[in-house]
Amino acid sequence: MHIFAVANQKGGVGKTTTSVNLAAALAQQGQRTLLVDLDPQGNATMGSGIDKRGLTRSVYQLLLGMAELAEVRAASPSGGFDVLPANRELAGAEVEMVDLERREARLKEALDKHRDDYDFVLIDCPPSLSMLTLNGLCAAHGVVIPMQCEYYALEGLSDLVNTIKKVHANLNRELKVIGLLRVMFDPRSTLSNQVSAQLEEHFGDKVFRTMVPRNVRLAEAPSYGVPGVIFDKSSKGAQAYLAFAAEMIERVKSI
Ligand code: ADP
Ligand code: MG
Repeated sequence: MHIFAVANQKGGVGKTTTSVNLAAALAQQGQRTLLVDLDPQGNATMGSGIDKRGLTRSVYQLLLGMAELAEVRAASPSGGFDVLPANRELAGAEVEMVDLERREARLKEALDKHRDDYDFVLIDCPPSLSMLTLNGLCAAHGVVIPMQCEYYALEGLSDLVNTIKKVHANLNRELKVIGLLRVMFDPRSTLSNQVSAQLEEHFGDKVFRTMVPRNVRLAEAPSYGVPGVIFDKSSKGAQAYLAFAAEMIERVKSI
């Protein structure tokens, strides 16, 4: 079982879009996949076709030890993968976990018991370096970092990389950056191309070959509760995430 956190402490950089579409694309390629929504906004939950308002059990109960993983998981109706869903309740977990032992390892411990159930687990992290993100990083073998190729893209990246290094040193020796994914890419923009070239220069083969273009179909899909790769399979965005899934499957063979 390969566990990947999709993380970047900036909001609106494509974490959730990447998590949902990669989960659906992996499922399409026959991989048993679980998507964990660690963001109280519940966007990955909704985007997978699960109504966050009607949840009786969510990641919140799982982290606080009030429910087992098997009681929390739900199947994405169209996606072909399982989801540990989240909603606003999860925002309270941060404070309520303060007194728990090994509070940063709650998700890891829950996933450990289901090691044989999945080939891939993807964790959609919130836009912060909080206890929730820390749970994601402690549980993961690797981090996928979605990035927009714009002027401020590299700002903040060092904070994330430093956090990953600290978690690696103190909490999770397995953790590493798997790669940087360029998203919302505009091939006609000079700036996009410059930043993209800069990323390749700095991070070499840590930059995924696949680039996800800006594509309106990917932005429309969540309002139908259907992953973009299923909503419009032939769109450029869907094709990119299908290619990305193939690249991930290839990359994990060498880990
Ligand atoms: P995050 O989870 O990092 O906050 P999201 O995945 O929610 O980011 O994306 C932010 C916004 O950008 C959303 O409205 C989403 O639909 C849109 N978006 C993400 N990726 C693309 C893309 N490749 N093309 C067009 N819109 C995108
Ligand atoms: Mg998100």
